[in-house]
Amino acid sequence: MKRDTVIFDLIEKEYARQKEGIELIASENFVSEQVMEAQGSCLTNKYAEGYPGKRYYGGCQVVDQTEQLAIDRACELFGAEYANVQPHSGAQANAAVFFAVLKPGDTFMGLDLAHGGHLTHGSPVNFSGVTYNPVCYHVKEDTGLVDYDEMEAIAREHKPKMIIAGASAYSREWDYARMRRLADEIGALLLCDMAHPAGLIAKGRLSNPVEHCHIVTTTTHKTLRGPRGGMILMGKDYENPFGYKTPKGETKMMSAVLDFAVFPGQQGGPLEHVIAAKAVAFGEALSDDFAVYVDQVRSNAQAMAAEFVKLGYKIISGGTDNHLMLIDLRTKFPDISGKKVENTLVKADITINKNMVPFDTRSPFATSGFRVGTSAITSRGLKEDDMRTIVNLIDEVISNIDNEEAIAETRKKVNALMADKPMFAW
Ligand code: PLP
Repeated sequence: MKRDTVIFDLIEKEYARQKEGIELIASENFVSEQVMEAQGSCLTNKYAEGYPGKRYYGGCQVVDQTEQLAIDRACELFGAEYANVQPHSGAQANAAVFFAVLKPGDTFMGLDLAHGGHLTHGSPVNFSGVTYNPVCYHVKEDTGLVDYDEMEAIAREHKPKMIIAGASAYSREWDYARMRRLADEIGALLLCDMAHPAGLIAKGRLSNPVEHCHIVTTTTHKTLRGPRGGMILMGKDYENPFGYKTPKGETKMMSAVLDFAVFPGQQGGPLEHVIAAKAVAFGEALSDDFAVYVDQVRSNAQAMAAEFVKLGYKIISGGTDNHLMLIDLRTKFPDISGKKVENTLVKADITINKNMVPFDTRSPFATSGFRVGTSAITSRGLKEDDMRTIVNLIDEVISNIDNEEAIAETRKKVNALMADKPMFAW
C-alpha cells in the first residue's frame, strides 16, 4: 500500500505546531510515549462488544485482560467499586448516564453553560437539552463562586431527578457534601462530571466526588493525562434505589444498569486500543511521579493567575484551586473580545480558547473572556517562572492586538521558549 504522504505530512505539521507553540487549552494535555504506543497498537483491529468475560466476539482473551486492568486501575485510583472504561468520550459517558437514569422529558439540573457548565449539562443544542428538561444553577456575579443557595432554591422548586456537579470553566473546589444533602432531600441522583480536575482528584489534591456522588463521569485526557476518552465510576454499587430498569425492563444493581446503558445502550464495540492506553495512563497516575506532576500543574496555575492579576486582568472568582482559570477581559480591555484574543494569540503560536464569562453581554461566538490551563505546558516541563513569562507574552500580544510586527516578535520569543522543551518531560 502506498504511504499516504498527504495525511502524514499534515501530521508532521501538527507535530511542529504542538512542539513550537505554547498550549494553554485547559482541556488538552500531552501524553507519554507509552500511552501513544498503546493507542497506536494492533488492539485497534479487535472487535469486543460486551465486557471482559462476556463478549459477543471470539478472540477477546487478551483485550479482556487489558480492559480488566484499566477497570482495576481506575477503581484503585479513585477509590471506586465500579468503573466502566468504554465510553468513547466524556460526552458519551454523560449520555450513557442520562440514558440509564432519566426518561425523555425528565427534569435535571446543571451549571449554566454560560457560567462555566458543559454542553452535556443541559445546553439547548445538545442531546441533554433536546431530550430532557434542564434547569440551571449559576455562579454569583460578585464572587464568581457557585451559588449553592440558589441551587437549593431551584432544586426545591423544580424537583430535578438528577443534579450535576462539575464544569468546564470553573476554577474552584466543589461542595459535594452539600449537593448530596440536597439530592437526598429532594430524592434526586447526584452525578459529578469531574472531567477537568480528575487528575488532581486522583492524587487527593481536591476532594473526591466518588465519596459523595451516586455516579461520577470523567474524560481521561485532561488533567488525567491519558488518551482521549471517557469513563463512568461509582464509589459504591447500590441496589438501584430509584427504580431504574435496564432496557430489557429488569431491575438490577446500578452497575448493571450503567453497563447496559453504555453497551448496548449508547455504543457498539469498545475501542480496545484506547482502553489499553487508558490502562497505561491510569498506571502512570498511580505513581508518585504523577503526584509531583499534579502539584506542579496547580502551582503553575497559581503562579499564572497571580501574574494575570498583577498585570491588571480580572480572574473569575479571583484565582484558582485547580489547573485552569477564566480571564475576564472587560476590566483591562473592554473593547477586545475573547474571539479576537484567541485569533491573535494563534498568530504568536499561543493557543487558548475564547470563553463566555458569567453575565457576559457578548455572544458565545465573540465572548468577553478566555480560558487557560496549565496541564499541557506542565507536561512539557515548564515551571512557575515560565508561567510569568507566558502571561507577559500574552499581555504583549493583547496590548498590540492590531500590530502584526509586534505579534511576529512575540512569536519568536514563544518559539525560543519552547525550542528545547520535550513533548513529554515526565
Ligand atoms: N464534561 C466536561 C465537564 C467537559 O469539560 C468536557 C469537555 O471538555 C466533556 C464533558 C466532554 O468531553 P469530550 O469532549 O470527550 O466529549
